[in-house]
Amino acid sequence: VKIVHKASEFRDHLWGVQKQGFAVGFVPTMGALHEGHLSLIRRSKAENAVTVVSVFVNPTQFGPNEDFDRYPRDLERDAKLALSEKADFLYAPESPEIYRSGFSTYIEETALSRVLCGAHRPGHFRGVLTVVFRLFNLVRPDRAYFGRKDAQQLRLIEKMAEDLGLDVEIAACPTVRDPDGLAMSSRNAYLVEEERAVAPRIYGALRAAEAAFDAGERRSDRLVDLARAVLAACPSFSVQYLELRTWRDLAEADVVSERSVLAVAGVLGKTRLIDNVILDPTR
Ligand code: AMP
Repeated sequence: VKIVHKASEFRDHLWGVQKQGFAVGFVPTMGALHEGHLSLIRRSKAENAVTVVSVFVNPTQFGPNEDFDRYPRDLERDAKLALSEKADFLYAPESPEIYRSGFSTYIEETALSRVLCGAHRPGHFRGVLTVVFRLFNLVRPDRAYFGRKDAQQLRLIEKMAEDLGLDVEIAACPTVRDPDGLAMSSRNAYLVEEERAVAPRIYGALRAAEAAFDAGERRSDRLVDLARAVLAACPSFSVQYLELRTWRDLAEADVVSERSVLAVAGVLGKTRLIDNVILDPTR
């Protein structure tokens, strides 16, 4: 793996690869890499001739009272992990490469970004879509890999690519979990022992609903109630939302009749955690 700070250091190489008919895969991250990120890198490696992994803690997607300053950063460790997965480039841009001086143009989705996390983190998805768009323009990948763990983010990036006609294939990857079910996240590092011990309940709640869905339950309120009951037994997790929405439009529905997502967000101690399961009656 080659650590690069400027896109100009790999641009010609990637262009050469693409001119020969080979594909470039891209895995954007905020670093503090874990197995979830590595699964994306592996998939990109399997599907493309060259894989670029970016590490950029994007300031515009953090709210004023969020964890931008204390977000875990360890580029050396990230480089070792990227090397172990044989990524070709580890791209760690400095902020001015992404946001030039005087930067004032943002990408804003105006419907799906308003619900779920968007309702609790104003401006978050505007920051996410803007940085992803900038990174797409700097890397120019054929395929880009995103985790289902961040379900709304994934859907919004798909939507941006559809609406703006971006020439990149968005690949969705399954959520990687610790053995006890907790979805891996760089933010799990914030959890103290007692918090870490109860955190798997979040997925436990989603699983309870998923099991009922698999057994034939299709009423949204019933499914949400089942998950809510499990979370009620874990009062230290303060729920921000627990909602069942269609995947396509992130719309509410009384009955699950199309591919949908049961999504949860909340705060455990000082750490905001999210998770979700996909409920698909067509599968
Ligand atoms: P982040 O560094 O948290 O911004 O995440 C970078 C990418 O890794 C995003 O596409 C995430 O959805 C994905 N990701 C993060 N955690 C996981 C996980 N546990 N399983 C799968 N993908 C993940």
